[in-house]
Amino acid sequence: MNRNTLIQSLLDEPQKQWDIIIIGGGATGLGIALDAVTRGYRTLLLEQSDFTKGTSSRSTKLVHGGVRYMAQGDILLVIEALHERGLMLKNAPHLTANQEFVIPAYTLWDVILYTVGLKFYDLLAGRLSMGKSYFINRSKTLERLPLLKPDGLKGGIVYHDGQFDDSRMAITLARACVENGGTILNYFRVNTLLKNEKGKITGVQVKDIESGTEYAIHGKLVINATGVFADEIHRMDDPFSKPTIRPSQGVHIVLDNSFLQSNSAIMIPKTDDGRVLFAIPWYGKIVVGTTDTPLDTVTLEPRALDQEIDFILRTAGKYLTRPPKKKDIMCIFAGLRPLAANPGNPASTREVSRRHKITLSSSGLLSIIGGKWTSYRRMAEDTIDRAIKAGIIEKKKCLTKKFSFYSNNKHLKSDRLKIYGDQADEIEKIINDYPDFGDLIHPALPYTRAEIIWICRNEMPLTVEDMLARRTRALFLDARASREAGPVVAELMAKELGFGKSWQESEISKYNELVINYL
Ligand SMILES: Cc1cc2nc3c(=O)[nH]c(=O)nc-3n(C[C@H](O)[C@H](O)[C@H](O)COP(=O)(O)OP(=O)(O)OC[C@H]3O[C@@H](n4cnc5c(N)ncnc54)[C@H](O)[C@@H]3O)c2cc1C
Repeated sequence: MNRNTLIQSLLDEPQKQWDIIIIGGGATGLGIALDAVTRGYRTLLLEQSDFTKGTSSRSTKLVHGGVRYMAQGDILLVIEALHERGLMLKNAPHLTANQEFVIPAYTLWDVILYTVGLKFYDLLAGRLSMGKSYFINRSKTLERLPLLKPDGLKGGIVYHDGQFDDSRMAITLARACVENGGTILNYFRVNTLLKNEKGKITGVQVKDIESGTEYAIHGKLVINATGVFADEIHRMDDPFSKPTIRPSQGVHIVLDNSFLQSNSAIMIPKTDDGRVLFAIPWYGKIVVGTTDTPLDTVTLEPRALDQEIDFILRTAGKYLTRPPKKKDIMCIFAGLRPLAANPGNPASTREVSRRHKITLSSSGLLSIIGGKWTSYRRMAEDTIDRAIKAGIIEKKKCLTKKFSFYSNNKHLKSDRLKIYGDQADEIEKIINDYPDFGDLIHPALPYTRAEIIWICRNEMPLTVEDMLARRTRALFLDARASREAGPVVAELMAKELGFGKSWQESEISKYNELVINYL
């Protein structure tokens, strides 16, 4: 992944027609890009910021069928997601894990309801099940979750779901696209849809945010995969188009593992106001969330509301013997769910389906809205199939069901480096050749200087934020430590990418400002 080389592919043949142009570099767009390149279409993806700057780096990090959606009766969605969960765990074993969850039960009714419900969840997973669910008594529950409040506890129901690193998964998708001949560009914003005299879309007008250069790019098909921003693209197509997205904010906080001291996650199926709350171990910390707050406006950098943080702390405090306080929070992150809503639907966001919707406008804009990270592969397959059905592109078979992102069985000294996939041993080689690069970027963070160098060479980061938020997960694990690591990271990046002192200073100050949002 070299940005200059990829930009060159736009310049080489300015008049060439792409088969597919995808707007949006989150889970949905990158999934579609991989589906398209592996089928053999000439594919271009354009992301206005960094890959997964939007919702796709801010999820709960679950590869799941969705126990909650089952309770809401959305069985088809759950069956589809459980199937996709199985495929993702098989195809990306280096970025996913089988996570054990315990639902604490405080009444006999809870015991019966959740034991039966989760048996049904197991059944829906079929042969892609990740392990059977079962009831455990009070003492076994407290053995697994030693810091769970014991008052009134009857027992727990154990079940399994998948967990993953969302933005590393996205970067892995991006790399796979490029390896298969696709062109994937970050910091390229689509400003206009180009149309012919019949009003049909023929391409996009796009601006390289880095250089300011504008390009007119032509393609047979333009796909709108912009998540919560989908309506902005709809308005480029038709200024009078009705809203199709109902954004809903979800907030998480990150705590030290000393609040849980367990490898099992806690799932609270019904909080005081009817939401679901998770406390999940992730890279040695605990991610606790989430909320569901309907919003009217969308932004790339959403902010958690005070009442959302208070709700999470209050609810976690009801279940944990050591109630977390604001000062214990290591990171707060907010994301916007791109829920597909019927225009004028007054339903609360909890009842809005998480299923994806694909629409084709009369001018030929194919839009995909809604969905979940877990289902990204199926969403991509459905989108491309829809374009084939509409006769926009020729028929080619989907190949992603068995597309493996990890083949390397090489022995790595550090299992942690597996997140870099088949090239992880290149990072070990940097450390072997230059042992100083084996030093950590910060004592409280797991990342070495060698990783920063390798990422600069292979994964197209342009800013310190790209590096600390999405290539590594430093910002999400410990926002303060990531801020302290900023100068070291800026210096390493400047050397690798060929920037001077003023770039370093400006990057450090931009990053310091950003971190305030996460504290
Ligand atoms: C709080 C929360 C928790 C979640 N947890 C889970 C979970 O645990 N498991 C799960 O399966 N799902 C989960 N989801 C759902 C999942 O994260 C989303 O469905 C998914 O990430 C959406 O991806 P997307 O690509 O559609 O949107 P995004 O990730 O937002 O990507 C859209 C991209 O389009 C770009 N864009 C917009 N306009 C333009 C333009 N003009 N030009 C170029 N680019 C543009 C944006 O910059 C953005 O990067 C969660 C969602 C939220 C909010």
